[in-house]
Amino acid sequence: MSRLIDSFHRRIDYLRVSVTDRCDLRCTYCMPKGFKGFEEPEHWLRHDEMARLVGLFVSQGVSKVRLTGGEPLLRRGVTDLARQLTSMSGLHDLSVSSNGTQLAHLAGPLKEAGVHRLNISLDSLDPACFARITGRDCLTDVLQGLKVAREVGFNPIKLNMVVQANVNVSEVVRMVAFAIEHGFVLRLIEPMPIGDTGRATAGVNLTRLGEQLADQYGLVPEILGRGAGPARYWCTADRRMSLGVITPMSQHFCEACNRVRLGVDGTLYLCLGQNDQVPLGKMMREGASDEALLDAIHQGIAAKPERHEFNEKPQQIVRFMSQTGG
Ligand code: SAM
Ligand code: SF4
Repeated sequence: MSRLIDSFHRRIDYLRVSVTDRCDLRCTYCMPKGFKGFEEPEHWLRHDEMARLVGLFVSQGVSKVRLTGGEPLLRRGVTDLARQLTSMSGLHDLSVSSNGTQLAHLAGPLKEAGVHRLNISLDSLDPACFARITGRDCLTDVLQGLKVAREVGFNPIKLNMVVQANVNVSEVVRMVAFAIEHGFVLRLIEPMPIGDTGRATAGVNLTRLGEQLADQYGLVPEILGRGAGPARYWCTADRRMSLGVITPMSQHFCEACNRVRLGVDGTLYLCLGQNDQVPLGKMMREGASDEALLDAIHQGIAAKPERHEFNEKPQQIVRFMSQTGG
């Protein structure tokens, strides 16, 4: 059980790690325009440095880790990093968030490396709409990636759909049908005002839409354990398909928050919607011992903010989602 407990009695047992802030897509609500290239800057942590920091969290009882980004499957050697992490006793759940463009050739190696679960972003099943949102016409690559991921044994696979007013909200029904047909877990997400891109994106109230969809498809509420995180779920009677809504804007869920995030340079972000951070990567490169890093982690967790203020202070977060690690 995690020994990382904040001042609001929340036990932190989940770490999200951004392994790159680059991406091959430009989702309108996430990435700023402009291409940065794929060379790896000096300030990015190497895999051994990431593994050292993750190992410190795991030593404190963190048992769930997610590799994210940017697009994590573009980071060179990501499957080696995954293998290193899954060999840590105490880490029971390693998952990866991905846009799926590289999944057709990496799903097998990720499975072999011991990755337990995949979350794949999929905002539209219409090629033109997909291209409008992501900036690339590559829906077929993602669908092929999903197929291969199923074939190599990932199950369940979660699909993340950011629902935007006037852009893809009309496609939610088709996505629910797709998830039912293939037995995916579908998570509908309200866009958050993170960075200029996130702020420029209009969402819809998913608390309401989730209930309507559950009614329409005869889904029943799904009671999940605490590990379910900040989503509300419904499922089909045979439990093959689930529908979840992540509603940071219409119904915040901060009292159940169990996570913190590590940026690609080793910055510990204590809340997605606040600026509180601890420069663990910098400390490590300046020679900090494990004890000093553990102290800094505990102090950071003790100062974890109570909640985001996306509604009250939407201008607050200037960094982009890809930097914090979504
Ligand atoms: N590239 C991978 C992907 O797309 O899944 C991993 C990183 S991405 C930042 C992680 C998740 O954050 C995705 O599901 C994406 O849709 C979501 N996301 C990005 N910007 C967001 C925003 N402003 N509000 C809500 N979700 C956002
Ligand atoms: Fe890239 Fe993921 Fe952000 Fe889309 S949501 S731009 S795929 S990091």
